[in-house]
Amino acid sequence: MVTTHNLGFPRIGERRELKFALEGFWRGELDEAALRETGAKLRAGNWRDQQPLTLAPVGDFSLYDQVLDMSATLGNLPDRAGKAGENALDRYFRIARGRSPADDNCCGVHAGEMTKWFDTNYHYIVPEFDANTRFALEPTRLLEQLAEAKAEGVNAKPVIIGPVTYLWLGKSKDDTDRLSLLDDLLPVYGELLQLLADSGAEWVQIDEPILVTELGGEWRHAMNLAYHNLKASPVKLLLTTYFGQLRENLQLACELPVAGLHLDAINARDEVARVTDWLPGHKVLSLGVIDGRNIWKTDLQATLGWLEPVHQKLRERLWLAPSCSLLHVPVDLDNETTMDPEIRSWLAFARQKLEELQVLAMALAEGRKSVADGLKSNADAILSRRRSTRVTDPQVRNEVAAITPELGQRKSDYKHRSAIQASHLKLPQYPTTTIGSFPQTKDIRQTRLKYRKGELGPEEYQARVRDEIRHCIQEQEKLGLDVLVHGEAERNDMVEYFGEQLEGYVFSRLGWVQSYGSRCVKPPILFGDISRPKAMTVEWIRYAQSLTNKPLKGMLTGPVTILNWSFVRDDQPRKDTCLQLALAIREEVLDLEQAGVNIIQIDEAALREGLPLRQSDWQSYLDWAIEAFRITANGVKDETQIHTHMCYSEFNDIIEAIARMDADVITIETSRSDMELLDAFKGFQYPNDIGPGVYDIHSPNVPGTDHIISLMNKAAERIPAERLWINPDCGLKTRSWDEVMPALRGMVAAARELREA
Ligand code: GLN
Ligand code: ZN
Repeated sequence: MVTTHNLGFPRIGERRELKFALEGFWRGELDEAALRETGAKLRAGNWRDQQPLTLAPVGDFSLYDQVLDMSATLGNLPDRAGKAGENALDRYFRIARGRSPADDNCCGVHAGEMTKWFDTNYHYIVPEFDANTRFALEPTRLLEQLAEAKAEGVNAKPVIIGPVTYLWLGKSKDDTDRLSLLDDLLPVYGELLQLLADSGAEWVQIDEPILVTELGGEWRHAMNLAYHNLKASPVKLLLTTYFGQLRENLQLACELPVAGLHLDAINARDEVARVTDWLPGHKVLSLGVIDGRNIWKTDLQATLGWLEPVHQKLRERLWLAPSCSLLHVPVDLDNETTMDPEIRSWLAFARQKLEELQVLAMALAEGRKSVADGLKSNADAILSRRRSTRVTDPQVRNEVAAITPELGQRKSDYKHRSAIQASHLKLPQYPTTTIGSFPQTKDIRQTRLKYRKGELGPEEYQARVRDEIRHCIQEQEKLGLDVLVHGEAERNDMVEYFGEQLEGYVFSRLGWVQSYGSRCVKPPILFGDISRPKAMTVEWIRYAQSLTNKPLKGMLTGPVTILNWSFVRDDQPRKDTCLQLALAIREEVLDLEQAGVNIIQIDEAALREGLPLRQSDWQSYLDWAIEAFRITANGVKDETQIHTHMCYSEFNDIIEAIARMDADVITIETSRSDMELLDAFKGFQYPNDIGPGVYDIHSPNVPGTDHIISLMNKAAERIPAERLWINPDCGLKTRSWDEVMPALRGMVAAARELREA
C-alpha cells in the first residue's frame, strides 16, 4: 500500500449548499441549528468522497474562512467581536462580515480586512495583532469535527495553519512586531496538539506555505524556534507547503524536527530529487502529484515515469496527495452534463482528482498492470487532448510567432499624441467619467437570463439592451459627465462575456470555486488557441455613440485580466496564452476605432493579482504581462485615447511597469486610501493622465461635493492638475440608481467648482 491523503476538500458543496445556507442564515430565514446541520452534512459527504484515502482531512471545512477559524481557535478574534462566552457563531460572523449599527442595536462592527490567499483568488480574513494580543485555546470546533469524523469511521488527519504562517498572515494594528507574539502563541499550539492526540489523532497536517516565499532571517529563525518547541508534541506533524518551490528554504524545511514534509510536486517538481536526498531517513515525504489549482486531467503515465524511481527509493516513506487543498477547484465534473464531451474528457474536478490519486497509488503498490484500465483511459484522454485540432490553430500560432516589438508601440510618444487628443476631444480641465458599468437592475439581469434560456428572441433581447443603453446615456447627459460609457448592461461578468465569444473557451455549469465566505466564482475554461471569430462589443458601443455628441468610451477587458480570472491550459506557458488573448483583443480595439470610437478603455483589474509569490520572479511576469497589454492597446492612431483601469492595488513596487503600459489615462481605486496611493505615481514622476477614484463604490454611502473636492485637492498635491480626471473608484454595477445619481451629481459639481477655482 502507498499512503494517500488530501490537504482539503471544497466546502461550499457541489450545488453551493453552504452558500445558500449561510445567506439564509444571515437573512434570518434559517436558524443556527439548521446552518450547523448543513455544515455537518457537507462534511459527512466530503468524507464519504474521500473514503478511499488512507487519511482524510478534518478541520478543513469552514463556515466562512479557514484563517478566521484559526483565529477563533487561538482565541484571537478582535475585541469588537464581543466577549468570550457570547454566542460563538455570532462573534465569528461579526468579524467575517461586520455589522451595521442598525443590526447591532448599537454602534456597528467593522469586518476584518480581507486579502488574497497567496497567489490564489481565494480571500482570507486577516488576523489582527497588537501589543495586548494574548492567545487562549478554543478547541471546540476542531474537537467536534474530529469526533464527527471518528463517528463516520474516517481515518482523520486534523488540519491547522502553522504558528509561523499564522503570524505572517496577520497584521499588527500598532507597531507590535508579530514575531514577538510567538512565545505566547507556541504553548497554545502545544496544548492543541496534545488535545488532538488525546482525541485519537495520529497525524496532524500543519500548514506552513510561507516556506515557498522569500523569508527574512527572523522568519526562518522563527520556523526553527517554533518546531523545536513543538517537537515534544505527542502527534506526528506533517509540515505542509504548497503553491511553489522551497528554493533557499529547502534545507530548512527538510531539517525542521517534524515527522513528515509535504512538497507541491506540481510547482516544485525539480526539487523532488533534492528533497529526497536531504530529508532524514525517519521522515515521511508527501508529494503533491495532482494539480490542486487547475482542472486538467493528470498525465498519469508521465507522472509514474518520474514517481516510480522515487517510490523505489522511499518505499513506505512516500505518501501521495494533491499539490494543495482542493478548495481551489470545483467539486464534480459529473455534473457537467451539457459540456462538450470531448473537452470534458480532458478535465478532472475534485472528485476526479482523488480518483487519479488512487490509480497512482495502486500503480506504485501493485504495479501498473493492476490499474491497466484506469491508465489506458487516462492515456486516451491525454492523447486526445494533445492531438485535438480544436486545441491548436495554426493561424493563431503564426500570428503569435510574427509578433514584433513594433506591435506594442504607439505611433508617437505621450506628449505628442496627448496634444492631438486634446484638440480632438476638447475636454475641459478635470474631465469627468465613470469606470464602465452602471447599475445592473433586476430587470436587466432577468432580460439576460431569459435570452440565455431561449425565452427571449434575439431581436427582443437587442431591443431591451438598447433601451437600457439609451437610458444610461440619457442619465449621463443629464448629469453632465464629459466622457460617457454604454453601461455594460449586456455583460454578466467582465471575463465571461469575452470568453463566451472567443474561440478556445468552454464554460462549466456548476464549476464554482469559493472566492470568500459565501461568494463563489465560476472561472471560464481556456482550453485552446484563442481567436476572435467576430467583433464582440462594437455593435453595442457604436449604438451608444450614435445617441450622443459627447465622446463615448468603449469598454474592453484586457488580456492579463482574462488570463488571471480563467482556468488556463497547462500545456504551454501562461505567457503564450496571454499573447494570444492580446492579439484577439487588439482586433477588437482596432474595430472599435474603425467604428468611430475615439476613447477605448482596456480594464486590467487583475494585473497585480497575477504577480508570482516571490519578488525575484516578478520582473519576468511583468515583462510579458505589460507586453501583452501594449500589443492589445497600442495599435491605434494618435487621435485615439487609450484608458486602462485597475482596482485597489499597491502601486509602489510595480509603478515602472504601469508606466510602461503607456495608457493615455489610468483610472484607479483610491478613495479609501485618502489619495496616498498616488505617492507612487508622484515619486516615479508618472507622465500620463490619472483618474484617482473619488467615490467608494463598495459602500452605500454617497460622498458629498466637499469631500470630493478635498480628495481632488489632495490628488493635485501629488499630480499636476492638468493631468487629473475625476471618476468613481470602480464600476457601478453593484449599486442602485438611487445611490449612483446623487454621487455622480456631487462628482460633476465638484469638477465645476474645481475648474472655477
Ligand atoms: N469596466 C468594469 C466595470 O465597470 C471594471 C470592473 C473592475 O474593474 N472590476 O464594471
Ligand atoms: Zn475596478
